[in-house]
Amino acid sequence: MSTPMYRDCPGCGVRLPASDALADNRFHASAECWQLYGELTVYTLSRGYTEFIHQLAVDAYGAQHVGEHPRPIGPAFALIGLHLACDRGYTGRQVQHMHVLLARRSKSWPAFTPPAHPEWLTILDVLRAPAGDERDAMLRRWAQSVWDAWSHEHTRIPALIATVMGD
Ligand SMILES: [Zn+2]
Repeated sequence: MSTPMYRDCPGCGVRLPASDALADNRFHASAECWQLYGELTVYTLSRGYTEFIHQLAVDAYGAQHVGEHPRPIGPAFALIGLHLACDRGYTGRQVQHMHVLLARRSKSWPAFTPPAHPEWLTILDVLRAPAGDERDAMLRRWAQSVWDAWSHEHTRIPALIATVMGD
């Protein structure tokens, strides 16, 4: 048996050259994909706190890497974040604020079923774009593609927010 030269991420499906890196088991991700997430995190945190695009990356990545038995708050908060950003135009800071409000009001979150055969962009598309406005734009396209792939759950998310916030 030889080491495979490439490994597919079990979450987002991105195919990357296999490395000796260890996966972080908080996420349903290949070690190589998780490494790219570390790279992207360094980048997004450098982009400042006004728009706080980092939040969008956290939610897009989270919604692409939902495992068999995640803590329910993970997928729920990722999908809520994508809905608020993609459908309601929230900035990352506004999403973060809403997450805090929601977390205060409820400790139990429903499960969501990941898309079976998603067609979406991946973190690799984002990191291939030149750093700066182009990469930020690609990050938004990535997030939108992830949200679109979850269309079977779209009606549940605004209903969940309304229920928890008591609207
Ligand atoms: Zn992945």
